[in-house]
Amino acid sequence: MNFKEHIRVIPDFPQPGIRFKDITTLLQNGPVYREAIDQMKALIKEKQIDVIAGPEARGFVIGAPLAYSLGIGFIPIRKSGKLPGETIEADYALEYGKDKLAMHKDAIKPGQKVLIADDLLATGGTIQTSIDLIKQLGGEVVGAAFLIELSYLDGRSKFNGIDVVSLVQY
Ligand code: IMP
Repeated sequence: MNFKEHIRVIPDFPQPGIRFKDITTLLQNGPVYREAIDQMKALIKEKQIDVIAGPEARGFVIGAPLAYSLGIGFIPIRKSGKLPGETIEADYALEYGKDKLAMHKDAIKPGQKVLIADDLLATGGTIQTSIDLIKQLGGEVVGAAFLIELSYLDGRSKFNGIDVVSLVQY
């Protein structure tokens, strides 16, 4: 399956110079969405994973169906101020901006093996912050899985010793 045919590239969004990879065109096609999730599942099949964590919002669209199909839990990593319980927070820098991510303090049990899932790896800032939060909670990050990797930004070099897999590379 050529997934790139189903990913729309929008120039100059959300800022001039950014070529935004729009996955809504892939998601709206049921068989292609399912095939993408199935192939991502195959990429992580050798791993021992207790739970999947995914950052808001497109990390939910990838991480939740992966968790469902593996029969394991899904943990949302959210923007500051959205989670109702007690949280820990960390700052992060984006390819085009800055924000804060939060997790519930009791979201992960110490020692749990966590896979991070997201739609796209750019600079790796989002995932680095997610890794920091998961580690603070005592979780062990066993890998990160992405639908898309922007290889030219070399985000994966940020994650020493963490296995990174992606379905589509630009
Ligand atoms: P990073 O933190 O620089 O790796 O940026 C990754 C985050 O930004 C992901 O959560 C993506 O959802 C979002 N993102 C950055 N660039 C794009 C893009 O071209 N298309 C879709 N999402 C993007």
